[in-house]
Amino acid sequence: MFGPIVASALIGFFGGYHVGKCLRCRYSCRVVSPGNQRKAAARMSRATAELTPGKPLTLAPAGTISFEIETGQRLRITQPEGEQVADLISFNRDDVRELLSMHSSRAVNLSWKLTVPHVLYSNRTREMWQIEDDLTGENYCGGGYCSEHLNVARYGKQAEGAPNCQSNLEAAIREYGLDRWNFNIDACFNVFMTVAYDQNGVWEIRAPKGKPGDHLTMRALMPQIVAISNCPVLFNACNGYRLKPLTLEILPERD
Ligand SMILES: [Zn+2]
Repeated sequence: MFGPIVASALIGFFGGYHVGKCLRCRYSCRVVSPGNQRKAAARMSRATAELTPGKPLTLAPAGTISFEIETGQRLRITQPEGEQVADLISFNRDDVRELLSMHSSRAVNLSWKLTVPHVLYSNRTREMWQIEDDLTGENYCGGGYCSEHLNVARYGKQAEGAPNCQSNLEAAIREYGLDRWNFNIDACFNVFMTVAYDQNGVWEIRAPKGKPGDHLTMRALMPQIVAISNCPVLFNACNGYRLKPLTLEILPERD
């Protein structure tokens, strides 16, 4: 089946394309204009990693990564040892002013516990991701990530200079010419993180519930730049007081 392979390779390699009829196969696949080929080539070098479908990649404890994902591809985030939080932000690859929004996602879904089959929305309230499976079923959707200033406010001088998700995410997108002012706390989906709210208004980070091998899978609903911080915080129960790896995989296409 050469045709579909060519089509999916093109789709995998290039973004910003227009849809046309492929001359080499029976399928209606995407034809890439020279201008968009140049744009795609320029983009290729900016992520810190390229995820090849079907090849899982390990994100070390406290590590950070950026990569690109095409519409329709599915991203799986796995906790090989359990009890590890991933802070995820993502941008519309074609216009980085559009980024993930937990506020829009909560408001449209009328839920603050987003899991299967919820859709996650952008700050323009357009569909970005659909959650397809979620074995842990615990994701914090209030927005936010740990930063040096937040950690110092919470935990004092010991947090000065300590690794944090804001710095990790900023490092991951630096090659795109982006920095911490291009994203905000509303953009962050805290995968596998357990936060409790009680009736008296107490808000508390609690021990994570992920079991070894638990994963979450989301389908991309637009081409995106994704950045993930493998949360390096040891000051609270977020990661069970031990930092562990995560595994990332873009799943192969379904048959
Ligand atoms: Zn963090």
